[in-house]
This record gives sequence, structure tokens and C-alpha cells, in this order.
Amino acid sequence: LMHLTKKLIEIRGMLLSIDQSDALKLPSIVVIGSQSSGKSSVLEAIVGHEFLPKGNNMVTRRPIELTLIHTPTKDGQLPTEYGEFPGLGMGKITNFADIQRTLTDLNLAVPASDCVNNDPIDLRIYSPNVPDLTLIDLPGYVQISSLDQPESLKEKIASLCEKYIREPNIILAVCAADVDLANSPALRASRKVDPLGLRTIGVITKMDLVPPERGAQILAGNRYPLHLGYVGVVAKKSPVEPSSALVTQRAEDSYFHQNRDFFGNSSQLLVGTGTLRRRLMEVLESSMASSLHGITNAVQLELEEATYQFKVQYNDRSITEESYVAETMDILKHRFKQSTQDFRRPLIQAKLKEMLDDKVMDVLEQLYWLDKKTQELGQMGSNSKLKPEEVDPYWKHKFEAASSLLTKSGVGRDSTLLVADGLRSLIDSIALGEPFNFHPRAAERLIEFSHMILRDRIGVTSDQVENCIKPYKYEVEVEPRDWEQGRQRAIDLFEKEVEACQTKLKEITKKVGGGRRLTGLMSYVKKIEEGQRATRTTSNEKGTSTSQVESEEEVTPESYRYPPAQIVDARYAMMYSDRLGILKLRLAALKSPRCRAGPQSEVFCPEVFLNVVADKLAYTSSQFINIELLDHFFYQFPREIDARLLYDLDRKEITTFARENPMVRRHLDLQQRKEKLEEVMKQLNSLSTLRSDPQPQPRRQ
Ligand code: GDP
Repeated sequence: LMHLTKKLIEIRGMLLSIDQSDALKLPSIVVIGSQSSGKSSVLEAIVGHEFLPKGNNMVTRRPIELTLIHTPTKDGQLPTEYGEFPGLGMGKITNFADIQRTLTDLNLAVPASDCVNNDPIDLRIYSPNVPDLTLIDLPGYVQISSLDQPESLKEKIASLCEKYIREPNIILAVCAADVDLANSPALRASRKVDPLGLRTIGVITKMDLVPPERGAQILAGNRYPLHLGYVGVVAKKSPVEPSSALVTQRAEDSYFHQNRDFFGNSSQLLVGTGTLRRRLMEVLESSMASSLHGITNAVQLELEEATYQFKVQYNDRSITEESYVAETMDILKHRFKQSTQDFRRPLIQAKLKEMLDDKVMDVLEQLYWLDKKTQELGQMGSNSKLKPEEVDPYWKHKFEAASSLLTKSGVGRDSTLLVADGLRSLIDSIALGEPFNFHPRAAERLIEFSHMILRDRIGVTSDQVENCIKPYKYEVEVEPRDWEQGRQRAIDLFEKEVEACQTKLKEITKKVGGGRRLTGLMSYVKKIEEGQRATRTTSNEKGTSTSQVESEEEVTPESYRYPPAQIVDARYAMMYSDRLGILKLRLAALKSPRCRAGPQSEVFCPEVFLNVVADKLAYTSSQFINIELLDHFFYQFPREIDARLLYDLDRKEITTFARENPMVRRHLDLQQRKEKLEEVMKQLNSLSTLRSDPQPQPRRQ
């Protein structure tokens, strides 16, 4: 039978880790009693060590699930006694003062405002001197509310105890001999759930504080009968040698010996810590044995349900935390590899060309479109007699400036950053998408190390690119074929730009309320601008303030005609229509025989020349970005995934990682539940072979 209890205690622990429902519970002994009734002293007497928190200020704030495991002493070896907190991972603690300190810390970690916490502390004690028992120590009932123990505390403790003294647990009701049993909150609580006292053992402490005949009377239990009876103990600690269990034991022995007339064998009363221990073992054993059948059925049912669900929901597919992590990394690498398709060289080159086209447009705007004389350039070009070398140096100078503005605009840096940004947003989108949205820390690391690789390469790459385009800063050879292609591309770009301007103008027209209104607005704005120009000149000439006032008077009343926002719109409209004018002129030039003629016309057609240069720059840049940035990144990235995401995780982090994904967590939970139930079932089945008939232990009479 001994073996049975030990096994069942083990099984009880496994069941506790499965769930907290009452159906899957094996009995434990729950210790209740009011504060100072001697609860801790009794528990420590059973264990043979002082290990429970002490202090005036209620120190037991959380239940302690105390599992005692009897370990046989090996021949010729000193008995090893130690405790373990399985939830804390502190390993074996051989010094019981350390156990006491840990328990105190855990209790004090519960904020005083919360008073008590229902989350139990799991403590296991291994010793050759303890029986196999499971005990639950609960906060003592509060008798009198004091200042630092608010009224609510009383109720909180009572409801916590109520939760634990439910079936199938055994109640150990601790009462002090010197307090009337009628006032014992422990007995009162027990009677509520176990009116016949079928699963309540009374422990009467402080037997030494009442005359022996009174003590004997209490133990006889006639006034408050309990089926499992009362045990009387003396568990006073010596203030001189507080930690010696032996001293306590001797004091108890000598007390009952001295009063053997009352408590001797013939009295049939149960006294002493030794008797209490045996009694607890007997009661727990028989209770466990009688629970066996019920628990086996309950586990069987739960197991069937879990097996069914596992089949239905997951088609019996087992996963592990490791396999999920590995799979996730594979998905990541695969997704990345697919996305590298977007970074093939022709695509990069096209992207760079687009960026450079924008630059070309900026240069053109700055040097040509804003220059009123640009209209002349087209007229000169249409004069077929004019040779390029006869062109005004003004245009030659402009042309040189445009070319160098483009080639010296920091193409190395800009093109490198453009591609790096592309990579960055690729990684960001992977990190934000499934399944990394479930793994914020891994996603953060992913972003971190990919940015680091990029940071490392950006400087080198942009220098390299800048170096390679250097020749274009001095001279660009343009072949007739390049020229013709560039001309076509420039026409396309200009046509697009014309379209864009027209769209903008249409939008503004619609916004201000029609073409006529816009025309009115624009001529009004022109008038103000001319007025202002005139005012500036006059006031500059005369330096008087009167004219300024006059002109303001002239303008101000009119400005009420249009809201300020529409005046802004009108200014934009004027800008777009000016641009439209010049773009159309230049488009005509691009299509003229002069531009068609070939590279010798470059001064007349800077748009074509710049387009050809932009094309060459894009080609060269993409080549070196490919070698210096992309190849490095594509090589490094999967390796960093392994090094920084995969191999960096220890066992615990792998579990945490996998469980961050709710789908995986549910799958694992069900799978683990099923596995644990299977294991429990196996153990329960193996027990039935050594199980003797569960006989309820009769009270010794
Ligand atoms: P708890 O609050 O219920 O855990 O009570 P304790 O075990 O801390 O005991 C309260 C006080 O009663 C302590 O000062 C103990 O030394 C004392 N005490 C406990 N058991 C006995 C006993 O059997 N006899 C005497 N005289 N004092 C005891």
C-alpha cells in the first residue's frame, strides 16, 4: 500500500499540471486553523524541520502545496534531506533556513493590499524522515481584525480555504487545546462541507496548556465528534533551541509520558506527532485508494475526449516547439528568396533610371524651363544653317552645367540608398506579416540584424558606385544609336509630363468651379502681382509711404472677391500652364530634324543628352550595387537568420517562441494534454496490478 500512495502522489502532481478541475483531483491533506493555533508548529513537527515563514504580520499569503517524498537512506551514506521549488528552478536546497527565506520572500511578494493570493507555491521535500504525504498549508483564519489586517482579509482567507477543503481533500483542522472548540473556525468550516466528519481529522495543539483531564476530554471527541477522530500534540518550540525538532519531540514525549494515566495505551486516545503522522498516512492512503477507481474513469474520459479532439482538429499531427521554430525559419528564408526576384539587375536598373529621370527633370527645370530665353533655343535649332559651334557660349555653358549637375548630384549615394531602402522595406514587410506578427521580439531582431548588414555595406557600395561613374563627370561618348533611343525616351517622358500638368490643371479647374472662374482668378492674381511689382518700383523710387497705402486701398476691396485658398490654386494653375507651354515647345524641338540629326546636336537638345547620361549612370550603378550590396546581402541574410534567430535560442526560448503563435499554442496544449493523460493512464493501469482492495480505515477504537 505504501507504494500506492507514493505513486498516486506522483500521479496527483501530473494531474495538477494538466488542469485544475475537480474531476481530475486526487486527495491531499489541507491544513486549516486560526492564526496562532499552532498550524506551522504541527507541520514542522511532521517534517522534522523549521522551514515555514515566521513573523507577527501574517506571513502565509499564498497556499503552499507541500509534497513530502520519502527517500530511503542508502547503506553507509548520510541521509540526504532537501527541498525543491519546481516552479522556481533553484535546484536542490539542503539548508532549510534557505527554504524558509524563499517562502518568506514569495509570501511577501504578494502586495499587502492584495492580502492573499490564490496561486499556490509548490514545495517538495525529500527526506528519509518524512512519510509520503501531500499537505496544503493555507493562511490561518483571522480571529480579530486589526489595523494592518483589514476586514476584507477575513473573507478572502475564508473563501480561499473553502476552495481547498472541497472533496476529495482531507481536512486537517488544527485547534488549540486552550481555546474552546466551539470557537474553532477550522471545525466550523469543516462542518459546512463535511458534516459527519468523514474526511476531517482534528489536531489538538498546546495540550500542555490545559490540565490533562481536560485535554483527554477534548480528544475523546464527544462534544464535536469526528469520524476520523482527534490527535493531541505538544508542538511547542523551545525558544532556546528553536530549530531542534528533537527537543520538541522530547518535550512532547515527556509530557505524554508524565500524564500517561490520562493518555496511556489503555485510554485509547491518539496522542503525539508520531501518531499524527501515521494517522495521516493511513487516511491519505485509504482516501487515495478509494479515489483510484473514480479518477481512473475520469482520466479515461478526458483522454478519450482529448484523443478525439486531436484527431478532429489536427488529424493526429504531432508538432514540437523545435519543429515549429525550424519551419518558421525555413518559411522566412523561402519568402526572402522569392522576394529577391524583385531585385534582379534589370529591375534595379529600371528603378534607378526612374530616379535619375526625376533628377534630369529637376535639372531641366532649374536650368532651362525657368529661363525665359529657352524659347530661343528651339528657334535656333530650327535654323538649319546654324552650326553647333556657332551657338552662343551662353547655351554651351548651360549645357555643361546641366551635365555636371546630373553627374555630380551624388548618384552613388542616392542609388545605393534607393536599393537599400527597397531591401529594408522588404524585410519590414516580412517582419510585420504572418507568422512574425506573433513573434514581436524575433521580428525586432530580424529587422535589427538586416539593418546592420545594410549599414555595413551602404558606405562601401556608394563609394564604389561613385568611383565607377567618375568618367562620366568628365566626358560622355554618345553613339548615334544611344542618341536615338535617348531621344525617344525623352519624348515619352515629356509627353507624360505634359499629361501630368494637364491633369493638375483639370483638377484645379474643377476645384475652383470651372474654367471661366479659373481664368478670372488667374487674371486677378496677375493684376495683383503686377500691382505689387509696380508698387515696389514706385516706392523704391519715391520712398514714400502714401503710394503704398494707395495701392493697398486699390487692391484690398477686390481681394474679398476670392477666398485665399483659391488664390493659391490660381498661382499653381499659372505655374502649370507656364510649364505646359515650355514643355510643348521642347517636345516640338525633340521631334525636329535638328534633334533627330544625332549627338552633334547636343547643345540644342540637352534633354536627349541628359537622358542618355542617366541611362549610362543607371546601368553602371546597378552593376556595382549588385556586386557590392545585393550579393552580400543575399549571402549574409540566411546565415544571420540561422546565427541570430535559430541557434541563438535555448530550450526555454524555443518554447516561448513557439507558444507566441496562438494557433501553435492551442495545438501544443491539446497535444501535451493528451500525452500527459496517456502517461497518467499508463501509470494508473500499472497500479491496478498492485492495488489491494480499498478498505476505508476504521477509527481505532
Ligand atoms: P500558527 O500561526 O497557527 O502557525 O501557529 P504557530 O505554530 O506559529 O504557533 C503559535 C504559537 O504557539 C507559537 O508561539 C508556538 O510556539 C506556540 N505553540 C505551538 N504549539 C504549541 C504547543 O503545543 N504548546 C505550547 N505551549 N505552545 C505552542
